[in-house]
Amino acid sequence: MQILRKKLTKSEFEAYVSAKNFGTVPPTKIVLHHTWRPTQESWSGIRTIDGLKRYYEGLGWSAGPHIFVADDGIWLFTDMSRVGIHAGSANATWLKNGRKRGGYYVPNAKLIDYSIGIEVVGDYDEHVWEGATLDNALSCIITLKKKLGIITQDIAFHRDFSPKSCPGNAITRSWFEQTLANYESHNQIPPEQGYRFKFSEVEAKKAMELGFLRQVDTETREIIAIGLTRVYERLRKEFHA
Ligand SMILES: [Zn+2]
Repeated sequence: MQILRKKLTKSEFEAYVSAKNFGTVPPTKIVLHHTWRPTQESWSGIRTIDGLKRYYEGLGWSAGPHIFVADDGIWLFTDMSRVGIHAGSANATWLKNGRKRGGYYVPNAKLIDYSIGIEVVGDYDEHVWEGATLDNALSCIITLKKKLGIITQDIAFHRDFSPKSCPGNAITRSWFEQTLANYESHNQIPPEQGYRFKFSEVEAKKAMELGFLRQVDTETREIIAIGLTRVYERLRKEFHA
């Protein structure tokens, strides 16, 4: 198995992704995981990365997840321009004889799209991402969203496709979406009391991130967002009048 085996800081990762060529069939989804084991306590950087490589090779895999996010940085594992192995049928979508099939590889089929697998180092069945791990995870996700045009709804959890708890029972959809939205708009970790957005912040992108809008074409999206902003302003005036 070929891996990149390199640790980057948030800004190094941003520069790396910005310059990266994802090829003619770029990834259109992200799937989030937790490593469960290794835990944060047993993580020891390059030694653990090499151990994971041996583990996957032992399973007979020719690829693995693309990224490991730890408190020490963002680790490149399987090259993001290639299909990875991390989420079964959600690894990639293939077209064969007019039918779509999911998986890592389907012989004589055409690759339609694939997902980037991000492993957050630690066991998140009891608690959410914290500290440098939280910061690195959100930054990594946002960098990839921007480069690949991925929206929050296209970020899946491993448990969406598997009976596991991965990326951990504590990582709920609402916690994740609010935490990410807050980090995106303020570039900071949300305060304990949670996320509050101002009416003036409601514009197309934000409305979509907050789940008011589904993916629609740019023009329609702008019209709906303007409509939403006006409804909000109207309501606000009514209630504060
Ligand atoms: Zn997983």
